Amino acid sequence: MNLETLKQWVAESNRIVFFGGAGISTESGIPDFRSVDGLYRQKFEYPPEQIISHSFYQRDPSYFFRFYREKMLPLGFKPNVTHFKLAQWEKEGKLLGVITQNIDGLHQKAGSRKVYELHGSVLRNYCVRCGKFHDAEFVKDHPDVPRCLCGGIVKPDVVLYEESLDANTIEGAVSAIEHADLLIVAGTSLTVYPAAGLVNYYKGNRMVLINRDETPYDHRADLVFHRNLGEIFSNI
Ligand code: ZN
Repeated sequence: MNLETLKQWVAESNRIVFFGGAGISTESGIPDFRSVDGLYRQKFEYPPEQIISHSFYQRDPSYFFRFYREKMLPLGFKPNVTHFKLAQWEKEGKLLGVITQNIDGLHQKAGSRKVYELHGSVLRNYCVRCGKFHDAEFVKDHPDVPRCLCGGIVKPDVVLYEESLDANTIEGAVSAIEHADLLIVAGTSLTVYPAAGLVNYYKGNRMVLINRDETPYDHRADLVFHRNLGEIFSNI
């Protein structure tokens, strides 16, 4: 029943905006780097939120990169049905853009062009001294703190705790949401601010929320699915 409504809305829309979180990537097999288990405790003595903060990065880049390489640099994963469907909608002129909290670059890999990466991307890395670009493999293969030929540290273009989000990215995301005729929010618990606050810019009456668990925005949505993203997207 709900699925039929969603199908109809998708068919009628030509300004779809998708706002996605970790849930879309976990369905590609990418583990959530914030998850802390026994194995984690053997390897790291600080909580993830502390290690991926700007001050920690400055204090102990070697430790930061050990964590980053192991937990945040998931290379070799493939986009799934949700990524591909969104890329298809963009090609068909039905989708204004994808806003994502993920840093894995899987939307682009699936063919999406208009992607607002709120937290940056592991695929972009720049020397802090000369600004030279380095790819993710460069960072992955480096034994310790990755350094450019010029000697500068190569820093991933990923937003760390204590750092602010990129203003242009936020502006683009807000504009897309304001112009959306259908907003699909998926795979996010909507608890990470300020990203979660973006949803408030939507003024329409077709907001769809897809998430395994309940979110604080369920009551705001016009359609709610507590299911896997892939199940929904393979049927629309
Ligand atoms: Zn350099």
